[in-house]
Amino acid sequence: MTKMKAVAKIKPSPGAEIVEMDIPTPGLNEVLVKVLATSICGTDLHIFEWNEWARRRIKKLPQVMGHELCGEIVELGENVTHLKKGDIVSAETHIACGHCFLCHTGQAHICINGSIFGVDVNGVFAEYTVVPASNIWVLDKRIPKDFASVMEPLGNAVHTVLAGEIAGTTVLITGCGPIGIMSTAVSKICGATKIIATEINEYRINLAKKVGADLVLNPRKDNIAQRVREETQGLGVDVVLEMSGNPSAIQEGLESLRPGGRFSILGLLDKPLETDWNKNIIFKYVTVQGINGRLIFSTWHKTSRFLSSGRLDLDPIITHRFRLEEFEKGMELMKSGNCGKVLLYP
Ligand code: ZN
Repeated sequence: MTKMKAVAKIKPSPGAEIVEMDIPTPGLNEVLVKVLATSICGTDLHIFEWNEWARRRIKKLPQVMGHELCGEIVELGENVTHLKKGDIVSAETHIACGHCFLCHTGQAHICINGSIFGVDVNGVFAEYTVVPASNIWVLDKRIPKDFASVMEPLGNAVHTVLAGEIAGTTVLITGCGPIGIMSTAVSKICGATKIIATEINEYRINLAKKVGADLVLNPRKDNIAQRVREETQGLGVDVVLEMSGNPSAIQEGLESLRPGGRFSILGLLDKPLETDWNKNIIFKYVTVQGINGRLIFSTWHKTSRFLSSGRLDLDPIITHRFRLEEFEKGMELMKSGNCGKVLLYP
């Protein structure tokens, strides 16, 4: 067998197609992975819908979509000696150059020559995919296989939550998409003492409560900053984890943060945003922190330990499973917001 099925973005317009293409051949330092499961990220939905961000960001079509991977190594490049056929793996999706200033100083996740699966190079919505051996994460046998593809976005949540003090803090999580939901669960096991989330979708409000939010506020009904102050003895929360990319959620988050607090941002905005810097940031003495990817590989080690110890359970967070051919159903569901993580099986 030399051909495989894949979900590819063919044209610079909304949608994607199932295509038949050659199974890729691994290079000297790469491995061929048989995809067992993959999950849909908000990024994939942006590319599928071909929104403003995707139009500016995607340079090359056609391209296989997807980046969140669970698979089995079926072929090794000639130079690869530390992995073996049959290994069940996930993968870091940021491919670093290994020789720039950032790679040299322990910040390979923001490598200036970096590329990303399914964004810059062919992705993993396919029966097979080629991955640089240095990006492979071998799954701990105690972790259910299904969880492997979700380790990458879970790593985003772990990275954001642990990017500052969390034990004993009060936390506001703005936006309960899958990473907001996972951040709620991670904040809980890391010892946050009060977790307030904001969300408008009923399904996700319930999911946030299920995984550990003490209170979920609805920006369409509640005055967020006022309610947060009521819940924190008038002070505001110590930490805001911004997961929505929504301008009003960001404004509400800044107003809900106590002076001297941490504002960690993972949610991507569609366009530039104005805020009152003097009032919300400078005089308030807050730390505003952009979060990108995962620390390679210290975030992966922590994420793996959270899962293998049984402290963190992804079962309630993985809500839907489809065959790869049914990817459009998954995209629709992600768009509706009536889901947690959606998995696709080739
Ligand atoms: Zn680099």
